[in-house]
Amino acid sequence: MVELDHVNKWFGDLHVLQDINLSIKQGEVVVVIGPSGSGKSTLCRAINRLETINDGHISLDGQPLPEEGKQLAQLRAEVGMVFQSFNLFAHKTILENVTLGPIRVRKQKKEDAERRAKELLDRVGVGQQANKYPAQLSGGQQQRVAIARALAMDPKVMLFDEPTSALDPEMIKEVLDVMVDLAERGMTMVVVTHEMGFARTAANRVVFMAEGQIVEENTPEEFFTNPQSDRAKDFLGKIL
Ligand code: ATP
Ligand code: MG
Repeated sequence: MVELDHVNKWFGDLHVLQDINLSIKQGEVVVVIGPSGSGKSTLCRAINRLETINDGHISLDGQPLPEEGKQLAQLRAEVGMVFQSFNLFAHKTILENVTLGPIRVRKQKKEDAERRAKELLDRVGVGQQANKYPAQLSGGQQQRVAIARALAMDPKVMLFDEPTSALDPEMIKEVLDVMVDLAERGMTMVVVTHEMGFARTAANRVVFMAEGQIVEENTPEEFFTNPQSDRAKDFLGKIL
């Protein structure tokens, strides 16, 4: 589904992605963890081409990522992304936030987009908030709207970059529950998170990055109980 083949990226002299090879199968949930600055966000952003890469190849469903224009908009629709900050449009209602992409990019009729948006908002537990504005919702509710908004585009894969790290503790679970449900429904997901409970419950694979490299990848059981590298042992010692 998503293939990264010898991917390299530099920011000036900084080699932020160093020969990354990663193959993500349909329906697979991959959790990416690692210290701050190891390149996790850059990796996510490269997959939906918010960042260009300097060397190597990335493909989605066997197709190389498009460079620009209409095809790039299409790619962004197919790769849903949820960030740490919710990035909702402040001056649009919750319903409008979710229907905007489907109407503009997917060319859906307004009624169809609204029907689907309401289903998705119900599914993530914020159906009652459809006519409110983002600022009237809690952080956890806004993040669930952001997930619904990405899903409304019918993405092939969903990328999550620390989706719960800006949330108060009591809101983290409600967002993780939505993500676990999505994983159980078979969505292909790449999730950067320090929520080890999520990794243990929902991940098929944990990818551990440090200093721009994939140092280790394994099942969550193996990774957490039996990390191989000193780098991973050290990291887990700090966060567990
Ligand atoms: P965190 O856990 O703190 O979110 P991360 O693993 O997501 O870290 P990245 O954000 O991918 O790390 O950053 C990797 C490295 O690239 C860091 O050293 C960062 O300072 C650098 N970097 C990221 N974006 C840019 C940029 N636009 N220009 C220059 N350097 C950048
Ligand atoms: Mg990051």
